[in-house]
Amino acid sequence: MLRTYTLPALPYGYGDLAPNISEDQLKIHHTKHHQAYVNNVNAAFERLDKAVKEGSEIDRKAFWKDVSFNLGGHVLHSLFWPNMAPPSRGGGGAPGGKLADHINLCFGSFERFKREFGLTANTGEGSAWAALTFSPEANRLAIMQIEKHNVNVFPNHVVLMALDVWEHAYYLDYKNDRAKFIEAFWNIVNWDEVGKRLERLL
Ligand code: MN
Repeated sequence: MLRTYTLPALPYGYGDLAPNISEDQLKIHHTKHHQAYVNNVNAAFERLDKAVKEGSEIDRKAFWKDVSFNLGGHVLHSLFWPNMAPPSRGGGGAPGGKLADHINLCFGSFERFKREFGLTANTGEGSAWAALTFSPEANRLAIMQIEKHNVNVFPNHVVLMALDVWEHAYYLDYKNDRAKFIEAFWNIVNWDEVGKRLERLL
């Protein structure tokens, strides 16, 4: 039985990440932008299902590119929301446990990791994401600088933490100052969640 993709509820209220992300900014991002990726990927697969049923053709290159873009957007936003939390509920600070050990192993220190991640996010071209990932094969953390939602993805690297640096993620709050938004992100990272995602793979 096939299922459609659905917009996940946020694990906190729209106003709970303010002032790091304002209520208006978060609401429009979740209910308009993320919802659009969900709607678009569902619409794409509806077209495929119809073509399969009718025995008609699809424009494969354009079709799978459309799926990749919209599904990439849905998957990344779905990882992004729970990798943040209000400071009063554990957001911000520094990671502990095995995640902290792994950050030290791969980046020397938490400070160096934050610098690498922040600059990688800030130098993503145009509409971009930065994601902390883990390779079970190499036992290594790596940072993906994902263009749009889907370009430069390392297959088999599992995303532990995602940061959306599309303008729609911060423009109401920070205008063109992406670096300031990235700085604010550190105040609301849910390190427990990021750490759990790693521990499931070790
Ligand atoms: Mn977004």
